[in-house]
Amino acid sequence: MFITEAVKQTPVLLNVDLCVVGGSCTGVFAAIRAARQGLTVALVESSNCFGGVAANGLVGVWHSLHDTDVNQQIIGGLTKEVLDTLNDRGVLYRGDERCAAYKFNSEQLKVLLDEMVAEHKNITPMLHTMYCGLQTENEKITAVFIQNKDGRSAIKAKFFIDATGDGDLCRDLGLERFTLPHMQPPTPCFKVQGDFRNVNVTEILQKHHSEVGLPEDWGWSFDFPQTTDISTRADTHVFDVNCAIASQLTYSEIEGRRQINAVLELLNKYGNGKYVLIDTCSYIGIRDTYHYKTDYQLTQEDLLYGTRFPDAVANSTYRVDVHDDNHGIKFKYLDGTTEEWTDRVTVKFGRWREPVENDPKFYQIPFKVMVQQKYHNFIMAGRMINADETAFGAVRVMVNLNQLGEAAGVAAAICVDENIAVHQVDAAKLRQTLKNGGSIML
Ligand SMILES: Cc1cc2nc3c(=O)[nH]c(=O)nc-3n(C[C@H](O)[C@H](O)[C@H](O)COP(=O)(O)OP(=O)(O)OC[C@H]3O[C@@H](n4cnc5c(N)ncnc54)[C@H](O)[C@@H]3O)c2cc1C
Repeated sequence: MFITEAVKQTPVLLNVDLCVVGGSCTGVFAAIRAARQGLTVALVESSNCFGGVAANGLVGVWHSLHDTDVNQQIIGGLTKEVLDTLNDRGVLYRGDERCAAYKFNSEQLKVLLDEMVAEHKNITPMLHTMYCGLQTENEKITAVFIQNKDGRSAIKAKFFIDATGDGDLCRDLGLERFTLPHMQPPTPCFKVQGDFRNVNVTEILQKHHSEVGLPEDWGWSFDFPQTTDISTRADTHVFDVNCAIASQLTYSEIEGRRQINAVLELLNKYGNGKYVLIDTCSYIGIRDTYHYKTDYQLTQEDLLYGTRFPDAVANSTYRVDVHDDNHGIKFKYLDGTTEEWTDRVTVKFGRWREPVENDPKFYQIPFKVMVQQKYHNFIMAGRMINADETAFGAVRVMVNLNQLGEAAGVAAAICVDENIAVHQVDAAKLRQTLKNGGSIML
């Protein structure tokens, strides 16, 4: 059934060079890089802060900025700027595990991103503002519609970036989409205060999960930076859902909080004293929903053999990390090895290929994975990326998407300056401009 809404005039709130929809670091970094190139930018975010999963999902973990030998720095730009500032403020620490992670206070990230956005006077930030539609004309987007406390209005721009994670603009543009054979499940993260010394949470969950209606599952955790007794936890997943479908997103949030409370109940029964729930994520941590077809799909061969691309805009070493629907996690590394974890204690080591003399020390992501031919003033950046299942398992992490955000912002600036379509951007110029702005181009 449908109803017809009355035709009405929509006020144009802003007329800018660039409109970025979605304010995780992907979107914020796109906005900042474009602003530094001189564009006026509208930055639209539906929640109360910038940072996306890193802030609202409580996942304050970014991975290595170096090659696998930890010899050469391969990631710079705004990722490095943010980590350096968080480090200077004493809210970051570095783990030494094989995937070398920086762990930071996610609340402090929110504060820093506010400051960074405010420093750029040509960015208009809009929080609590939901993108809800768009208008096109002659293969160009002319405006997006937004809804916030002022009601419904429009933002006109010369160029648009979709950094919504799910690809909400891609959806409304009718771009061809696909899901991966196994959609990675979401996780409800939370912070809990209590004594975890000599407490094996995985073992507790394995033995007692059915007492509180939890699936057989396991996850990870880290000490919340600057505290001694607060743990950020990601113990469970909500399986068999697609969080880009509204009803399934609602279900996932409610089921996620039920799971958090069930874990808490088990901790209080079988742990070390009293555990207090400090915080639940304000948005369930979504790993994977829809992907959109672009000029190029990144493949597992590209990634694991370290293909070098002339239009590379991102470098990384983060391992292939697939949370599967059989409740396990599989890792693949650039040195040809694999790890399969069925739970946190049982690991099967193996190889995805025989040893070779020279393993790649990092992989690359080319610009063409973000570019489509149909709409000239539009680019997508984020986890809607066009990658196969294995490649996605690696490129989905934030140090990678941050770099894609920066590339999207700089590409937008080139398009606006030269009045050209996104697929006409000269890769050498894009890479040089990124490099001039602090990104590492190899
Ligand atoms: C539990 C979990 C653990 C993870 N662990 C790590 C890790 O340790 N390290 C790591 O680097 N990566 C990790 N990842 C992966 C990584 O966090 C995500 O892949 C990444 O954050 C996705 O970035 P994104 O910018 O595409 O989307 P998001 O971070 O989801 O950002 C999208 C933004 O767009 C906004 N938005 C969406 N729709 C609209 C709309 N219609 N209007 C306005 N705004 C909108 C959202 O509010 C959000 O701020 C993890 C993911 C999960 C779920």
